Amino acid sequence: MPGAVDFAVVGGGIVGLATARELQRRRPTASVVALEREDAVGRHQTGRNSGVLHAGIYYPPGSLKARLCVQGMREMYEFCERHDVAHERSGKVIVAVDAAELRALDELERRGRANGVDGLRRIDADELRELEPHARGVAALHSPSTGIVDFGGVARALAGEVGDVRLQATVDAIAPRQRALELRLTRGDAIHTKQAVFCAGLWADELAVKAGADRDPRIVPFRGAWLRLKAERRDLVRSLIYPVPDPSLPFLGVHVSRHTSGDVLIGPTALLWPRRPGDLAWPGTLRMASRWWRTGMTEIRHAALRSTLIAAARRYVPELRDDDVERGALSGIRAQALGRDGRLVDDFAFSRTERALHVRNAPSPGATSALAIARVVADELGVAARL
Ligand SMILES: Cc1cc2nc3c(=O)[nH]c(=O)nc-3n(C[C@H](O)[C@H](O)[C@H](O)COP(=O)(O)OP(=O)(O)OC[C@H]3O[C@@H](n4cnc5c(N)ncnc54)[C@H](O)[C@@H]3O)c2cc1C
Repeated sequence: MPGAVDFAVVGGGIVGLATARELQRRRPTASVVALEREDAVGRHQTGRNSGVLHAGIYYPPGSLKARLCVQGMREMYEFCERHDVAHERSGKVIVAVDAAELRALDELERRGRANGVDGLRRIDADELRELEPHARGVAALHSPSTGIVDFGGVARALAGEVGDVRLQATVDAIAPRQRALELRLTRGDAIHTKQAVFCAGLWADELAVKAGADRDPRIVPFRGAWLRLKAERRDLVRSLIYPVPDPSLPFLGVHVSRHTSGDVLIGPTALLWPRRPGDLAWPGTLRMASRWWRTGMTEIRHAALRSTLIAAARRYVPELRDDDVERGALSGIRAQALGRDGRLVDDFAFSRTERALHVRNAPSPGATSALAIARVVADELGVAARL
């Protein structure tokens, strides 16, 4: 059959490329192709995020996020070293600004220890000041293994190892054929594959439904935008300063983070950002909105008024002034799965259709975890690891 391959991976983000590479490594003689709709890899979430290699503190013990983040971070450091991708083991603090936040900090510490986070330590206000001289709080967690990385650079290095990466190749229709799955591209040609993996981020639900999967969960976009500290104020932050987040939401709160480019960013916002007509009509959206309207209002203020975003960071970096920042730094759209029941899907999630596996939810720490997610996907497809 013309255009026939053993494995087709749809999506040239970090998860798709890590998956294509893993399949190629496990089956060196198999034909593996990665298909990406844009004219370069890593254009969506992969190239537009906080750039933090998470250590695995936040996630419920036993969850996929907990396990794959801890494993994925270690592998990602090795990968970056081997491929010369910009990264730094910069460390991070999570700051409790008052006594009311201590219980939530305790819970983070418990989770981090249960998840096996390397070197996690509770510190007091003085130690916090030694690590981050401009941060203030009553206590903090210090995670020395957390780091920063250029995830776009990782995606490009992964693509280099995959070999057959086809750009401007948008999969539009999916049809089971006798001994293959047909992936029809918008430009007219088709690929026939024995097995497919869909790692399509914002489009994950659409493609899964086209392949015959359930509509639930739907991908609901949340926009994240950052402000940039002016160059002369970058010394307010040495590495990464995070707040204690709301434990019931899958977002980590407004943080101040140093990037591998040298920029120091404040953000991101987490604003519901409907893209398709059905996003608001999805039953889960209304249920979520009725439960989280207060949080939604705060996010609208953060997005509309930069002073409120700065005020959120000023809680733990009191010297921050409104005129320390400039706009136009970076923005990215999170692909977050939302159930029909209005619950944001917290863990990584997968589903199956004929000859295909779909990554249905791979939000943060999805980039950190990508190499470990790829192993789970390959195992799931029955492609054994080589000894
Ligand atoms: C604001 C923000 C901050 C974040 N911070 C962090 C962080 O600090 N650390 C961390 O680990 N994670 C972070 N994340 C999460 C991380 O970016 C994602 O988990 C990760 O990038 C997911 O990778 P992906 O490959 O699944 O998705 P994407 O990078 O979105 O890739 C999906 C790809 O599929 C392609 N595609 C879609 N449909 C088709 C089609 N029909 N045909 C062909 N190609 C298609 C798209 O063009 C896209 O390139 C953050 C995300 C955001 C948005």
